[in-house]
Amino acid sequence: MIKIDHLSKSFGTLEVLKDVTVEIKAGEVISIIGPSGTGKSTFLRCINLLDRPDGGSISIDGVDILNPKTDVPKVRQKMNMVFQSFNLFSHLSVMDNLTLGPIKLLGMSKQDAERKSIDLLKVVGLAEKAESYPDELSGGQKQRVAIARCMAMDPKIILLDEPTSSLDPTMVSEVLSVIRRLAKDGMTMAIVTHEMDFARDVSNRVLYMDEGVIYEEGTPEQIFVHPQKEKTRTFINRIRSFTYHIGSPDYDLYALNAEIKTFCEKQILPVKTRQNLILLVEEMLQYFNLILSTSLLDIHLAYSEKKESMEVVFESTGAAMNLLDNKQLLEKSGLTRIRNVTDSIDYCRLNNKNRLTLILKKH
Ligand code: ADP
Ligand code: MG
Repeated sequence: MIKIDHLSKSFGTLEVLKDVTVEIKAGEVISIIGPSGTGKSTFLRCINLLDRPDGGSISIDGVDILNPKTDVPKVRQKMNMVFQSFNLFSHLSVMDNLTLGPIKLLGMSKQDAERKSIDLLKVVGLAEKAESYPDELSGGQKQRVAIARCMAMDPKIILLDEPTSSLDPTMVSEVLSVIRRLAKDGMTMAIVTHEMDFARDVSNRVLYMDEGVIYEEGTPEQIFVHPQKEKTRTFINRIRSFTYHIGSPDYDLYALNAEIKTFCEKQILPVKTRQNLILLVEEMLQYFNLILSTSLLDIHLAYSEKKESMEVVFESTGAAMNLLDNKQLLEKSGLTRIRNVTDSIDYCRLNNKNRLTLILKKH
């Protein structure tokens, strides 16, 4: 339905969108997540022509909307947007906020527009507020009105930019429920949100934006449970990580231990966890010492706040070699001691490297 190709947008010298390519199909609910300042709002604003893209193309049902002859108000009606700050007209009643667009832009009769508005207010649970003014409503109610107003234009897709982030926590769920309801009814939506649990259960596709591109995309399962790329993983698990690079057998073990200690202190980990981590790394290095004259070794430590777990990855260059298969070497490298402090040990071959992933036991 919507096809976005190589979209780019800069503000002066700031390149916000570098190269965004994505297709949105009818009925899809897409969540857009990512650190702030990565261009999520700009992306929605470009789709809706509130910001003019510098390059690339956007087409709806095969029609290029960046063509200068495009009827911009019509595009905005088709891809209507809900903002963080509601943007209701405060001098108009709820009903007038809803009927204004359909009467002015769609040429609907007042009667039809009102009938339709009442139906929509019922959908968002606010039919009894039709004659109220925005100031008489709570934040959650205002946002539900804004969603109903958006729907009143019969959009093909609704773009929601952090629809709950200016709300008190108590009002977040009423707004999310309304969005869920629309999703269930088959409305096509693109939602920028920081509500990860919501994104996970409402959307059928998640776009992770970073560095001005869609850095990784996939099903909620793929993005939230098995993100493939480092930045996505860091964002999702709010992982804090540290990498130590070993390039020769003469590396400085004391410096390494000192860095691990500092890393653990920053994460505010229990002393026991820190001791086990240092023990684990030392034991593993016994094993890797055998290959360090010919291989490079990276030790990655990643702590996931969300899962409260410490992942230790040993990534070495060289021929495929699974430590787990090599029982003799493993005994030598203190397998029992390693097992005692880990929940799991996995081996895989990735990008021509041997990758051993160990999850430290919790304490
Ligand atoms: P996000 O929604 O992901 O937080 P935005 O799209 O709002 O990110 O902003 C991306 C970057 O573009 C930010 O650095 C922001 O300061 C900048 N930016 C956004 N709008 C404008 C503008 N109208 N003029 C100049 N810079 C802007
Ligand atoms: Mg934003």
